[in-house]
Amino acid sequence: MIKPLKVVIIGGVAGGMSAATRLRRLKEDAQIIVFEMGQHVSYANCGLPYFVSNVISNRDELLLQTPESLWSRFRIDVRVQTMVTSIAPESRSVTVKNLVSGEESTESYDKLVISTGAKPRRLNIPGIERALTLRNVLDADAVKAAVETASLKSAAIIGAGFIGVELAENLSQMGIETTLIHRGASALSMFDAEMIEPMQSALEENGIKLRLLAEPVSVTSTEVVLASGERVSAGLVFSAAGVEPDNALAAAAGLEIGSTGGLKVDHQQRTSDPNIFAAGDAVEKHGMLGGNHALVPLANLANRHGRQAADAIAGIQVESRGALGTAIVGAFGFAAALTGLTEKAAIAQGLPHSVIHLHPGSHAGYFPGAKRISLKVLFDPTTGKLLGAQANGFDGVDKRIDVLSTAIYAGLTVDDLMDLELAYAPQFGSAKDAVNQAGYVGNNAFSGMTPTVQWYDLAKALESGAQLIDVRTATEFAAGSIPGAINIDVNELRGNLERVADANVIVHCAVGQRGHVATQILRGFGKEVRNLDGGYATWLAGTSAIQRTSS
Ligand code: FAD
Repeated sequence: MIKPLKVVIIGGVAGGMSAATRLRRLKEDAQIIVFEMGQHVSYANCGLPYFVSNVISNRDELLLQTPESLWSRFRIDVRVQTMVTSIAPESRSVTVKNLVSGEESTESYDKLVISTGAKPRRLNIPGIERALTLRNVLDADAVKAAVETASLKSAAIIGAGFIGVELAENLSQMGIETTLIHRGASALSMFDAEMIEPMQSALEENGIKLRLLAEPVSVTSTEVVLASGERVSAGLVFSAAGVEPDNALAAAAGLEIGSTGGLKVDHQQRTSDPNIFAAGDAVEKHGMLGGNHALVPLANLANRHGRQAADAIAGIQVESRGALGTAIVGAFGFAAALTGLTEKAAIAQGLPHSVIHLHPGSHAGYFPGAKRISLKVLFDPTTGKLLGAQANGFDGVDKRIDVLSTAIYAGLTVDDLMDLELAYAPQFGSAKDAVNQAGYVGNNAFSGMTPTVQWYDLAKALESGAQLIDVRTATEFAAGSIPGAINIDVNELRGNLERVADANVIVHCAVGQRGHVATQILRGFGKEVRNLDGGYATWLAGTSAIQRTSS
């Protein structure tokens, strides 16, 4: 009789359980054992910040499966509170410790899947032991218990990444005075500065205090002390200073670790040992663009790669396409999302890129409730191939980033965006959807029809003698303008040509659209003119972001 395949999986959440359940569907006769050191399997980590504030009030909703349910449907042998303490690749076995009884034992495997996740980065600051972190359901219980203490009035969150911002929203909505302390020049530093500024404003408008370029130096029983000397009131201290791959086990077993600190895998999720596969936050991801490896601790990738590990184990040919890092964060109804390369990532990688900004409506302007979306799209200046996109706004941000992520995955160009046939009725979008509009704006820039200048190059251009013309209405101009601009309404441009220089002219409007029209009018009269990309809105967001940390 042929011995059934025995697969051991370390870690029973996103990557681990995806691997386990997929493998069962592929191989009914396999023996599948999952070791999970925590009390729960298959829990919804992403929901934890919302459990703290009772947005998700029923704790059981977070527990998607139990060992019993996984056994009855999938015949998966899940052993919780059981920690794998070592891996012996040469004998194909793991040593495990039952965390309740203390009993140790050995389990053999034919194939092993590591999905041990990532752990919160520990800061080396005196007093930091008092800080809570959020990785699993028990952590969430502890944070919830702390915030439900009647005496808790204030909280300091160290780190304004996704988890820090989500928790800040939840604490603030419970009436707790919340300060986000962040080392970077802007919160959610993965975004380009101008694309996260509106989210920073949304946080502040809702009562969250932002401390940027701020270095905590100690934590006392009531405060977090910053290097600047400021003392931030903190009945609760929460550390959200990023995560790092939890791969000590893999490293001790001699598996190859990449330069990012994540476990190295090939495009079939195989580690340096042919019998050991890995997925999720412990693993470094292949970049879909530019080929760089990176740590991308996101749930989609953990699930997808867990499934692909199972496919590879079952002998199905898989070829992972790498990661785009598509992500979204929301707070107080405002959302910011990104996919592919940001401009700062493209610069860091030395990748040539063109940039466009636009601010279309979330749906038809005449239909109630339309809100502005701010979009930034990067593309290759030679081929037009899409490289990345960022979006923010109150409505429709997720849909646009998902379309753009799909477009990047498919290898589309910025011109292709003009031709995407997207669903439209006035409450959902526009006949020319925001993504189509990105195509039009991109085509104008890519084809050279409308030369542009970016917000961060404007000051230098003005210093070098450029003339700046604000083509909005006089009322808009009076409500706020860029220093040095003169105002000629786009509708009156043809009658005021004598006021326009012949060369080195920059025009701008609110969002770039009337600026595009003005550019074409003036070019028609032989003027050398560029449009301020994204208009006043992008310039204001970018310069406001910089001003936050320049004083
Ligand atoms: P995990 O899901 O973390 O599972 C790893 C498991 O391995 C853990 O349960 C751990 O106990 C276990 N383990 C580790 N070592 C051992 C050992 N030696 N023996 C036995 N068991 C072990 N991603 C998004 O895309 N969107 C979101 O909105 C989002 N929100 C998040 C919010 C929070 C609070 C957190 C913590 C994460 C969030 N994430 C989000 C990230 C997402 O949850 C992870 O990318 C995903 O869970 C990673 O899956 P994984 O299998 O690699 O690790």
